Amino acid sequence: MLRSALLAASRSGGVRALIEKAPPTRAVVRRFVAGETTGDALRVTGDLLAGGRLVSLDVLGEDTHDRARADATVEHYAALLGALADAGFGADAEVSLKLTAVGQALDEDMALANARRVCAAAREAGTTVTVDMEDHTLVASTLRVVHALRGEYPDVGAVIQSSLRRAEEYCAELAYEGSRVRLCKGAYAAPAEVAFTGRAEVDASYVRCLKVLMAGQGYPMVATHDPRLVDIASALAVLDDRAADSFEYQMLYGIRPQEQRRLAGQGFRMRVYVAYGTEWYGYFMRRLAERPANLAFFARALAGRS
Ligand SMILES: Cc1cc2nc3c(=O)[nH]c(=O)nc-3n(C[C@H](O)[C@H](O)[C@H](O)COP(=O)(O)OP(=O)(O)OC[C@H]3O[C@@H](n4cnc5c(N)ncnc54)[C@H](O)[C@@H]3O)c2cc1C
Repeated sequence: MLRSALLAASRSGGVRALIEKAPPTRAVVRRFVAGETTGDALRVTGDLLAGGRLVSLDVLGEDTHDRARADATVEHYAALLGALADAGFGADAEVSLKLTAVGQALDEDMALANARRVCAAAREAGTTVTVDMEDHTLVASTLRVVHALRGEYPDVGAVIQSSLRRAEEYCAELAYEGSRVRLCKGAYAAPAEVAFTGRAEVDASYVRCLKVLMAGQGYPMVATHDPRLVDIASALAVLDDRAADSFEYQMLYGIRPQEQRRLAGQGFRMRVYVAYGTEWYGYFMRRLAERPANLAFFARALAGRS
């Protein structure tokens, strides 16, 4: 119930205005968002890389219906990738891209053309792009775009949400050599016709998908903070005889940092998803929806007690 309400609020303009204007909000947002500028993002990236973690950077912004804004987002990514190249981070710092930030809601072809520009800038910078998965209505379109991008940029990462009933099938299709696939539970509400709605079902689906990806020829990117799933992935890596550099763990900036350090310290590839920018509202609300305790933390901050 609470999760659905928060996810609905993540798309409500009225609630957005209220939250964005609340004075203590920014301090709370900073727990999950690296900052507002590319300089902030570069500083956080440098610190994480120095500590042995890898990074995927997300320029916040989504659901745009404006061509000029989509274009500005592409320019922002190109500038970021130029700065990453200047810093010499190579593939240790890649980028994550939401197609709705580059025009998917207006026109799939435009989103594809814009995503190609980001991929070209990433190649120039010696790194890669992973295409985030958004709302369930966009899955088919997003997979089409990823497939088209891979024709020219085979290292483009795909994302599969285990909450989708067809997740295992998607994983089987994507478990081929060279295919980078991020597996996550899914951060968006979806109807029971297309998605599992109970936590246990989503987790069981995650394990089935993990088995397919770990046994396959691709490069699985295990995106979860769930300790049981991290353990299962580690066990499957041993069973499937996977080298430590043939898969990676991924977690979000600000969530379970100690566990991130532990995994990196054990020699696993551990990538942190670092979101930054001024358009933090939707991303922030999804983080609140994932964990009721975050809402309490936020409520305390609003009441001036944190
Ligand atoms: C690197 C990365 C990329 C992602 N990309 C996408 C994407 O492209 N599309 C998409 O739909 N979703 C994406 N997600 C979000 C994902 O789908 C889940 O919503 C999110 O990761 C929470 O699920 P979980 O696997 O951590 O398990 P959960 O069962 O939600 O959480 C397990 C434990 O992790 C901790 N935890 C989880 N979330 C939080 C939080 N917000 N705050 C504090 N603690 C928390 C808690 O200790 C919790 O008990 C991504 C997640 C990661 C880590």
